[in-house]
Parts: sequence; structure tokens; C-alpha cells
Amino acid sequence: MSDARYPHLLAPLDLGFTTLKNRVLMGSMHTGLEDGNKHDRLAAYFAERARGDVGLIVTGGYAPNRAGWVKPFAGKLSTRAEAAKHRVVTSAVHTEGGKIALQILHAGRYAYHPFAVAPSKIRSPITPFTPRALSTSGVEKQVRAFVRCAQRAREAGYDGVEIMGSEGYFINEFLVTHTNRRTDRWGGDFTQRMRLPVEIVERTRQAVGDDFIIIYRLSMIDLIPDGNTWEETVALARAIESAGATIINTGIGWHEARVPTIATSVPRGAFAWVTKKMKQEVTIPLVTSNRINLPSTAEQILADGCSDMVSMARPLLADPEFVLKTREDRVDEINVCIACNQACLDHTFANKMSSCLVNPRACHETELNYEKAGVSRRFAVVGSGPAGISASLVLAGRGHTVDLFEAAGEIGGQLNMAKVIPGKEEFHEMLGYFNRQIELLGVHVHPNTSITAESLLARSYDGVIVATGVTPRDPKIEGQEHPKVLSYIDVLRNRAPVGQRVAIIGAGGIGFDVAEFLLHDGHSPTLDLDEWLAEWGVVDPAEARGGLAAERVRPEPAREITLLQRKAGKHGANLGKTTGWIHRAVLKMNNVRMIGDVNYERIGDEGLLVSYGDKRENPTWIEVDNIVLCAGQVPLCELQEPLEAAGVPTYVIGGADVAAELDAKRAIDQGSRLAARL
Ligand code: NAP
Ligand code: SF4
Repeated sequence: MSDARYPHLLAPLDLGFTTLKNRVLMGSMHTGLEDGNKHDRLAAYFAERARGDVGLIVTGGYAPNRAGWVKPFAGKLSTRAEAAKHRVVTSAVHTEGGKIALQILHAGRYAYHPFAVAPSKIRSPITPFTPRALSTSGVEKQVRAFVRCAQRAREAGYDGVEIMGSEGYFINEFLVTHTNRRTDRWGGDFTQRMRLPVEIVERTRQAVGDDFIIIYRLSMIDLIPDGNTWEETVALARAIESAGATIINTGIGWHEARVPTIATSVPRGAFAWVTKKMKQEVTIPLVTSNRINLPSTAEQILADGCSDMVSMARPLLADPEFVLKTREDRVDEINVCIACNQACLDHTFANKMSSCLVNPRACHETELNYEKAGVSRRFAVVGSGPAGISASLVLAGRGHTVDLFEAAGEIGGQLNMAKVIPGKEEFHEMLGYFNRQIELLGVHVHPNTSITAESLLARSYDGVIVATGVTPRDPKIEGQEHPKVLSYIDVLRNRAPVGQRVAIIGAGGIGFDVAEFLLHDGHSPTLDLDEWLAEWGVVDPAEARGGLAAERVRPEPAREITLLQRKAGKHGANLGKTTGWIHRAVLKMNNVRMIGDVNYERIGDEGLLVSYGDKRENPTWIEVDNIVLCAGQVPLCELQEPLEAAGVPTYVIGGADVAAELDAKRAIDQGSRLAARL
């Protein structure tokens, strides 16, 4: 049945010497499990994905030598002793019937350590260390390191390697003139600049033999000003094919590119057309990548002839059974990656172990398990935001009986506001998943029910989980009862009419969300690929180097917005590391005025009166039609006290516990972990 629905996605791929069972490649992703000796955890993590039927797994990046480390003591594979430790990983995957390739990643000038090396001594805009320029023999040494790493991978039982040639890392740096100013045999015209990747692939093939997968990840659109031309990219792809690669994977954009490539506001499958261009140029299988998170998107991409495989990394963090559920016609049970980056990439950049916002078990497979409860008990969960729902699902999954009470008519709490923000449409998927799981696990939902402590006590539950969330903070500004003043709930949930000129008080996550909502007036560029590409200045790489247009084309913003905060410093400083810059860029491109270091003096008919600094200088009226309060939130946990006083085991989670810096990641993690131990 599902083979008929997803015929392209579920078709095997014959590589000659071996066959992949379907067209899903689990893309490489650094999780933190690669560093140190966490091979048992890594084995459990990958085994679960192999059991979930993924066609080919690619590990996070391993450096071929110390210079290639992404950061000090990052994962490296160069010695026999290191290779031996990987055995547990490869056998775990093979036992589950999977295949796994090791990614060889040399960081080059993106390395976060003082021993970084690169083609030329040019620091990247995203790292503090200036790399040392390699000598001619120094480059030769790096080539040998790549080859040796591939040999060690084979000894360790891997089915192949992926040579990381994109995203602006070491190999990629040789290809473009802005990072390669060499005049020896590794620099100069493009034939010379591409010598490095071609030699690496050629010599790796010679060393590992014919029956070993070599994937080359090729930067198909650099998205940087001096990026490669399309002619150069095609020449490289053909040379890589001739050098003996089995598969070419797609890389989109250097890390220093100022175009979002994987964030949730990037349209689904936004770059598959780039791989499709390459399809006519080479004969070996191509993999496409970036923002593919549903079987339907993947199937469509393959059916359209864009590629032979699709790469998904984060979606397999979110749901290890993605492929299995597709095969078994259970697509509506897939826990969909919402591309938020909050628990995966943002963790990596903060030097923390990765996980997944929608699946806190990701990378914690050996420690967080939802085992069946010995005795089934009755729980009430009050509040159906992400914390309450997660607790309910884990409790019900473990065999407990759960009543979930919700004051509103629908489940989801604040997620219902997030889903209306342009570029945050993926929250619909999260709610869809929650609704389906509630149905499957038999959680009893009581909508439109503001349950009281008395009613809860009368029902004699074995435990009550208070997940009643938050309420907007009262900023206590003089005149705030003026009809111009709205709360973010009025705007996002109740759709109150909003005028042309708006001041937003508070520049946290919700202040930014409200600004984007009002700027676009309900329209979402994420749902229109051509518009989105034009806004970010992305064009066919055959038209402009690196696929970057000379200018961006953006429609007039729907409103004039001023976004205010009391602190000095950058607006949105607490937004995610990998996404905050995108939100700031969107606001800037739409001429949003960002003002900090203000005091809110008064609200009146003219608008908002602010003064500046500790001395309350320069009182100025900001003349606006509306003022929207986004001044943070405080916990709502009135049920806790009476329940505890009556001796009922009571657990407070999510925003009801701590409202400050609450987000769905913490809420889901806290709800799931509590329910796992009850
Ligand atoms: P928040 O991030 O804590 O921001 C609250 C804002 O209100 C701050 O800018 C703060 O700045 C201001 N504020 C605090 N007390 C105030 C007062 N008494 N008077 C006036 N202004 C005051 O809270 P939020 O925006 O409500 O977001 C809640 C959570 O959801 C956050 O953790 C956020 O990360 C998360 N979220 C994230 C996103 C996203 O990542 N895009 C989107 C939505 C929500 P000053 O104190 O400097 O004035
Ligand atoms: Fe996807 Fe967010 Fe999970 Fe990362 S944390 S895998 S982006 S849902």
C-alpha cells in the first residue's frame, strides 16, 4: 500500500556492489556523541535509526587529523585504536539491517582552535582563529590524512565514507578565490583549485577498493559573493564522478552565508531545484537535501527527478521510525521535525549535547526510556500546552490512565499562537502529531474545562500534573488601559484590528513574532518559494556566482514598526544562535526600528512616551496607532497549593513552573522526563 503511495522514496537503490533499501539518507549531523568516548551511546542512537529502516546513515563529522578538528578534542579518526572503538557502532547498525558511512570532516578555517589550517591565511567571519596557510607539502599531508581516515573507517566496519566538500569547510575553501590565494599546484585557475577534492576522492578510491561507498558532499550553490560559477561546479562534479565517487550529496551554502538554508522559515525542499540542475550533468546517484521533513515532500522531489535520494538529518532525530512509519502507512504518526534548531544545532553551537525539541530521547537513548509502568495509575494533567501534552502522552504510553483538562476549546496552548506566525507553519505539524497520539494512546481530553482544585480532589487521582502555563506580565505602564494598547494575545489569537504604525513593547521571542506577523499581514513568504528566493536574493547559480543576486527583492512591509526594550544591547539576544540572526535580518530588511535602553513613561492619545537611559533623558513621543505589549510572562499555578495541602502528589511543569525563558523545548523535555519516572 505505502510502496504504492511512496514508490520513489521506498524503492531500493542499486549501487552495483551493494543495494540500499530505500532512498532515505540520514544526513550527517554533529550531535556531540562523536566527541570523547561515547561509542555505546552512539551505537544505541544509530541502531534505533537503522531499526527504523533508514536506507543509509551518515555519521556526524570526524576529523582526519588534529588540525581538522572542529573544536578541541572533537571526534577524530586516524588511528587503529580509534577505529577499534567504532566497531560497536557499526555492528549495532548492521545487526539492525542498516548501513552506515562515516563522514570525514576537516574544519579548515572554520575550526574553533588555534591549530586551524587552510589554503590561505584568511580568517572566517564566524570564527575567532586565523588559520595557518599550509605549505605545498602540508596540503599533501592533509590529502593523506583523508585517505588514511577512509581506510580506518573501512577497518572499523563502515560501509563507506562521506567526504565533506561543502558548507565552507577545508575542501570547499580550496575551490573559491576568496579563501584560496595560493600560487602553487593547489591554487590558481579552477582546474588547480579543484585538484584537492579530486585527488582526495581518487586516492581514497584506490586505497579502499571498489566495494566501498564514497559519497562526496559537493557545494552546489555557495551563497557567498565570490562563490563558484555553475560551470565550475559542474566541472567539479564530473571530475569527482571520474575520480571514483559512488554518490554525490548536495551542500547548500557556506556557513558564513547570510541566507537561511535550513531554518523553519525556509520553504520545504527549497533547494531541490539546484540538485535537479546537476542531474543532467553526471550519471552517478545524486542526493538532495535541506528542509525535507515529510514523506510527501521527499516523494515529490524524487518523482520530479530532482535527485536519486533525499537526505534528512533532523527529521530522523525527531523520529527514528520516519521510514518505517512511511512504509507501514502510518505517516500521520510521524513526529515531524519543525526545523527549529533549538535542541540540535543551537546545542552544538553552545557546546552541549544535541537532542530534539519534539523528541527529548534523541541522543539520550541509553538513559531516557519510556518503560511500561508496573502498576497502572490515574493521573490528571491540567493544561494542554507542550508540557502538559508531552507528560500525558508519555504517561499514557507507559500504561497509565490520563485525564487532560484544557480551559480552551483546542489543545496546544501557546503553540496555537506560534503556528500563525509567518515562517512558523511547521507548528501545525506538531499539533497534528499531538492530536493523533492523543487519539492512539487514549488520553481523555476535556476541552473547555477550567478544572478546580475541588473537582480534582473529588476525583481522587493518584497524581496531578499542573501544566497551566503562563499569563502575560503586567508591565505597569501609566496609561496602559488606553484603547490603543493590545496584548500579543489580542493580536495573535483574537485577531484584533491593528493600525499602520505600531510600537511593540518587549523584544523577546514573542515581540519578534508579533513584529513578523504584523509586517507580513498574515502573508507568509515561506509558502511561496519564488518570493522567498527573491527576498533572500537567491538566483540560479548559472546566472550569478554562488547563486547570489546583486540585490534582494522584498515587498513593502505592511506596517511601520518600532520594537522596544529597556535593556541596552542587541535586540533578540536570547533568540536561538542559529536563527536569531535570521529574525533580526528580516526585521531590518523591513525597516523595523529597534530601540533599546528606554523607559516607558506614559501611553496617551499621541502614542508612547519614552525616555532614555538611567537619567530618563530626551523624553520623546513615539507616535503610533497601536501599542502591543509583549513584556514576558509570569507563571499560572494556582492549583498547586490547595492540591498539595490536601496531600495529593502534585507536579508543576512548563511555564507554570518557571515562566522566564520558557520555550517548547524545556516544556516538552520537562513533561516527558517527569512522566518517564512516575
Ligand atoms: P522574553 O523572551 O522573556 O521577553 C520578554 C521581553 O519583555 C524582553 O524583551 C524584556 O526586555 C521585556 N520585559 C520584561 N519585563 C518587562 C516589564 N516589566 N516591562 C516592559 N518590558 C519588559 O519573553 P517572551 O517574548 O514572552 O517569550 C517567552 C518565551 O518564548 C521566551 O523564552 C522565548 O525565547 C520563547 N519564544 C521564542 C521564540 C523564538 O525563538 N522565535 C518565539 C516566541 C517565543 P527588557 O526587560 O529589556 O525590556
Ligand atoms: Fe528538528 Fe527542532 Fe528537533 Fe532539531 S530540535 S531535530 S530542528 S524539531
